[in-house]
Amino acid sequence: MLVVMRQDAGEEEVRGVIRAVEARGYKAHPIPGAQRTAIGITGNKGALEAPVFESLPGVLEVIPVTHAYKLVSREVKAESSEVAVGNVRIGGGTLVVAAGPCAVETHEQTLTIARAVKAAGAHLLRGGAFKPRTSPYSFQGLGEEGLKILAAAREETGLPVVTEAVDERALDLVEEYADAIQIGARNMQNFSLLKRAGKAKKPVILKRGISATLEELLMSAEYILSEGNYAVVLCERGVRTFSDFSRNTLDLAVVPAVKGLSHLPILVDPSHGTGRRDKVAPLSRAAAAVGADGLLVEVHHDPNRALSDGPQSITPDMFEALMGELRQIAPVIGRTL
Ligand code: PEP
Ligand code: MN
Repeated sequence: MLVVMRQDAGEEEVRGVIRAVEARGYKAHPIPGAQRTAIGITGNKGALEAPVFESLPGVLEVIPVTHAYKLVSREVKAESSEVAVGNVRIGGGTLVVAAGPCAVETHEQTLTIARAVKAAGAHLLRGGAFKPRTSPYSFQGLGEEGLKILAAAREETGLPVVTEAVDERALDLVEEYADAIQIGARNMQNFSLLKRAGKAKKPVILKRGISATLEELLMSAEYILSEGNYAVVLCERGVRTFSDFSRNTLDLAVVPAVKGLSHLPILVDPSHGTGRRDKVAPLSRAAAAVGADGLLVEVHHDPNRALSDGPQSITPDMFEALMGELRQIAPVIGRTL
């Protein structure tokens, strides 16, 4: 249920509604808007109590929310949300590009790639310190040591850092060191991890599960918002299909679908989405054109020797060329780079 306040409602009236919501044992989520404040209510049992809230001072109307997801829905918040990652805003006029290695391997490797992507115009540095690998024998990441390397790369380049937390213990560390917490495809429905991310003080980039529907993705985001963390960015990274020419099928149609249903920003990851280096630039261009708020791209200066995802990592030269193309596409779609 959504309580919409009158335009002239003051802070005391908003607080009155919050008190009434909490007195019933429900959670109140104030959503400030350009015109008026709305208050999302979660935990309630249905629309039967609407009259209770309708009669409170300052209330304009009470609207039932029809979707299973509430706080992520455009029904609850019509304006698109912007999410700050360090000094970078995702969801506004800038097409935000996060780039970097799949995995942090060494100080030298990460700094080399960070310098290159920064020089080409990337806004954020990505890189995994905790890697969810299909095989237990594959490189699992450097852990906290990797987070320290990312922090050093941020120190030198000024790029805010995005990195994955694979479990709650890792999330504690990622929250401490990074600027945004990535929840990977394999953990999209790890509900205890999502609840922990909902209590974090950093923004969350939530990747779509390998075979998750859009509704499941939005419900997972709802877990994070319902715990009080409203700084969530979705990420399409390809879903498993019968495709035999790419690692996954990048579902670009999900971008306008998300824009219709949710106020949250959405990034596209063409690297995991295709799994092949030669397809990263074409799908990046398509993602920008279809309205994505940004990209998550794997870059490696020596991809043939990468410890993770070498075949889909583009070189710094390819990344620079891609940024040049995106710079031409951005104004056509009303964005800057
Ligand atoms: C990654 O970004 O390196 C990653 C592991 O992605 P995903 O969770 O989408 O597979
Ligand atoms: Mn990867």
